[in-house]
Amino acid sequence: MAAAANNGGEGGDGFDVIVVGAGIMGSCAAYAASTRGGARVLLLERFDLLHHRGSSHGESRTIRATYPQAHYPPMVRLAARLWDDAQRDAGYRVLTPTPHLDMGPRADPALRASIANGAATEVASDAASDAAAPWPWSGVFRLPEGWTAATSEIGGVMKATKAVAMFQSLAAKNGAVVRDRTEVVGIAKQGDGSIVVKTSSGEEFHGAKCIITVGAWASKLVRSVAGVDLPVQPLHTLICYWRARPGREHELTPESGFPTFASYGDPYIYSTPSMEFPGLIKVAAHGGPPCDPDRRDWLAGAGAGLVEPVARWIDEVMPGHVDTAGGPVIRQPCMYSMTPDEDFIIDFVGGELGKDVVVGAGFSGHGFKMGPAVGRILAEMALDGEARTAAEAGVELRHFRIGRFEDNPEGNLAENKVKN
Ligand SMILES: Cc1cc2nc3c(=O)[nH]c(=O)nc-3n(C[C@H](O)[C@H](O)[C@H](O)COP(=O)(O)OP(=O)(O)OC[C@H]3O[C@@H](n4cnc5c(N)ncnc54)[C@H](O)[C@@H]3O)c2cc1C
Repeated sequence: MAAAANNGGEGGDGFDVIVVGAGIMGSCAAYAASTRGGARVLLLERFDLLHHRGSSHGESRTIRATYPQAHYPPMVRLAARLWDDAQRDAGYRVLTPTPHLDMGPRADPALRASIANGAATEVASDAASDAAAPWPWSGVFRLPEGWTAATSEIGGVMKATKAVAMFQSLAAKNGAVVRDRTEVVGIAKQGDGSIVVKTSSGEEFHGAKCIITVGAWASKLVRSVAGVDLPVQPLHTLICYWRARPGREHELTPESGFPTFASYGDPYIYSTPSMEFPGLIKVAAHGGPPCDPDRRDWLAGAGAGLVEPVARWIDEVMPGHVDTAGGPVIRQPCMYSMTPDEDFIIDFVGGELGKDVVVGAGFSGHGFKMGPAVGRILAEMALDGEARTAAEAGVELRHFRIGRFEDNPEGNLAENKVKN
């Protein structure tokens, strides 16, 4: 298999594109490239396929279009269309639509901007307000004084591991070669302009173009192969599942129409109703301590500081619905790859690799929902030199350039704050 793969298949003289890293972004990029008739695509993964050591594993992720930054909703809408297309292609579903609810202090600038950008509808006010009236889930949430809540149409629960598997198998069905247990250690341009990808076991793969989607390993790999610094800081975070109080189990499920939700403030809290663990609800806080993806602390200590604030939030805002006394029933470690401004990095690597190598990184804890859009953009950038689909969908890629950090280590932070 290795010999054929090195050539890009029978009679081939190399792959059209080699994708490094098979999380959601790499799997979507490989799938998007494989839909281009005749394109020879190779997807390489360092660990076992669908492993738990990166950022794309687990039961669920949420999709929403409510973003403080106006540049994300067009990408979410493009992704929503591409999620539908892929599910149709696969013949099964990985995304269960649900309503989405955003809540927080009424004047919070990020919440106000999210409501406006995501075309959300304000449905509620705090119980103390004269305007307080029953609203969907007013029996579950007790909004603190001065808070508001808004629902929006784009919402849903994505089965994370199943979705990654779907894109990998769709890519393979279209002829892509998918190889795991293959760690890439070198990516270089050869004299003839082609790209050679080297692995830790000494294999070499040849391609015209390359896409790097290695999640929390992005800074390390891109620095070592291209000498380019990407400010991507891995964080160790925790997914926490809590037990619903007796009698409340069926209220908090997607089947009963319960929403995914987000609560603005410090910490930012997010929740996904659970489809896999009946009687449990996932409620977690955004963030966690910095980590080295190759030297992680798997013990409960890492990220434990995120648990107590979530329990306090649940007791205050969802009183009587969730049992917080014994702590979370399940804690799953995961990694975020943070950029200083929490905007993605989607760009040509530059340096000696020029426009032949594209990188997608720094998805900052909110990239999964946009995986199919990011994958399509990366594939078009690699194969065509430009992302036509993004332009047509109104996705402005300038926000995601590596160059934004050149003169300003904070990137878009100031611009994002002003917009908030
Ligand atoms: C707890 C948690 C909750 C989240 N919730 C949401 C949510 O609700 N909605 C949302 O939109 N997003 C969410 N996210 C964010 C989202 O999951 C990530 O943005 C996304 O999964 C990042 O995918 P990736 O492909 O960039 O990285 P990864 O999934 O980490 O994939 C990178 C892959 O590259 C491989 N690799 C690394 N180095 C090499 C190498 N040298 N050679 C070969 N392969 C290599 C790795 O093994 C890995 O498989 C959440 C993330 C976490 C952790």
